[in-house]
Amino acid sequence: MIGAYPTPVERIDELGLWVKRDDLTNSVYGGNKVRKLEHLLAEAARKKKKRIVTVGAAGSHHVLATAIHGGRAGFAIEAALVPQRRTEHVVQNLRADLAAHATLRAARTYFGAALSVVAQTVRHDWGRDAYLVPMGGSNVTGSLGYVDAARELEAQVARGELPEPDAIVVTLGSGGTAAGLAAGLATSKLKTRVIGVVVAAPAWFVAFYTYRLLRRVYARIGGREPRALRGRLELVFDQLGAGYGEPTDAARRAMEIAGAHDLRLDLTYTAKCFAGALECVHTARFKNVLYWHTLSSAPLAPLLESAPRDVPSALAKLLR
Ligand SMILES: *Cc1c(COP(=O)(O)O)cnc(C)c1O
Repeated sequence: MIGAYPTPVERIDELGLWVKRDDLTNSVYGGNKVRKLEHLLAEAARKKKKRIVTVGAAGSHHVLATAIHGGRAGFAIEAALVPQRRTEHVVQNLRADLAAHATLRAARTYFGAALSVVAQTVRHDWGRDAYLVPMGGSNVTGSLGYVDAARELEAQVARGELPEPDAIVVTLGSGGTAAGLAAGLATSKLKTRVIGVVVAAPAWFVAFYTYRLLRRVYARIGGREPRALRGRLELVFDQLGAGYGEPTDAARRAMEIAGAHDLRLDLTYTAKCFAGALECVHTARFKNVLYWHTLSSAPLAPLLESAPRDVPSALAKLLR
């Protein structure tokens, strides 16, 4: 296993929230991508693959987590990246990808990235040695990591570590985290529903992809009552603002509030979600609200010591 489980649950009394600390899944690089990689890397090893080929935005946490943990597991990591707004966080992640020996290729659009992935895949051995991972690690296999997480939470509730949550509020980008959780909960004793705070666009595609993934994950784990999924996963779109990676005022406020309670957030994912979680508490629609924290809190400094100081010019066009 890559991660250390179970991750802790904590109460922030003043905010009336519970927090699931998936920032702590791994001490080198944690966050939600680690749970997906448990299953993705295991499958790649089972299939005797040597390379992992994937795709993401310039500052992708998924690409970085794959570079670090896939690299440690002995795979060569290759990623096609698309441009993202330049922030210090994005630049750091790019440099960390390079320090972790990932091979990066810059594309202009996701279509270009897909072509680059195909070209890259067939370059060796007609692609037989390559294991393809979609954006965010969000296929059925990756999402099984969050089925495990739902089981883990069920055990924590059974042990009395927290009351049964009425709602889990979680960031929704490529959908695997929310879909895995919802499928896992639908096959558990918990009645908890999942509120996915959408941070990616376009909305129709995110909704289509996520609900399809939810049905497929549920079927994979032997779920036989698709009606049990009804109402398990609700998507909210009102924190997205101008789009993926575009900060909102609500997210900035949420980031400050969380910071005052020692919870560090980012503006692309978790601050928008935390704003949604605070809203859930304020509107009192749910009694027990669990904010599921998905951002790694491991310091990147050790890795960045061996990183190039600046982003190489071939990758500069990834920063808008
Ligand atoms: C990738 C990511 C998410 C989104 O998870 P999905 O499974 O892609 O929906 C949320 N938070 C953080 C910090 C992430 O890196």
